[in-house]
Amino acid sequence: MNALIIVDVQNDFMPGGSLPVPNGDSIIEVINRVEEKFEVIAATVDWHPAGHNSFASSYKGKKPFDIININGRQQTLWPDHCVQGSKGAEFHPGLETRPIEAIFRKGMNPDIDSYSGFYDNGHQKSTGLAGFLREKKADRLFICGLAGDVCVYYTVLDAIKEGFKAVMIEDAVRPLDIQEFENIKRKLSNIGSDIVKAIKIYPVST
Ligand SMILES: [Zn+2]
Repeated sequence: MNALIIVDVQNDFMPGGSLPVPNGDSIIEVINRVEEKFEVIAATVDWHPAGHNSFASSYKGKKPFDIININGRQQTLWPDHCVQGSKGAEFHPGLETRPIEAIFRKGMNPDIDSYSGFYDNGHQKSTGLAGFLREKKADRLFICGLAGDVCVYYTVLDAIKEGFKAVMIEDAVRPLDIQEFENIKRKLSNIGSDIVKAIKIYPVST
């Protein structure tokens, strides 16, 4: 069965938000249109406590997009974003949320970032998304959302590692860095992820 995974379609990642993805809001209409083609829809949200260790503001003398080393892992520092309970952490108001069956929050541990919708960046703790999808008998995951070169990318990688077929909906994804995203799409194709346009998705319930 096919499932739709909507990654981090939150105000802070939209134009005008604190960590805006260029044209991030252009995917809303596309996502709303494809939702009806899926029987199972899950969403992920970035959901950080204030003072999270991925925020540049948590370090003296650091600025957003600096890269530092935390416990042997490279961490890009971000502007404060998607703080639990804030307006910026809410879904974009235009997103049709009614058919979303389950929402998986990530980045809640103050000491470790979480790009993938499945695991934190250290692969220490699962969000429960894989278990939910298996329980629902989903085997092919169509993944969309923001940002294409960060959280969508890592979600696709983990989907493949977890044994799902992964399909990225190209026109329902926008990256922070367009050049980097071109490399990522090539890499994903090479490891077996399909990349399709929303219009090519037909409802398949088996
Ligand atoms: Zn985050």
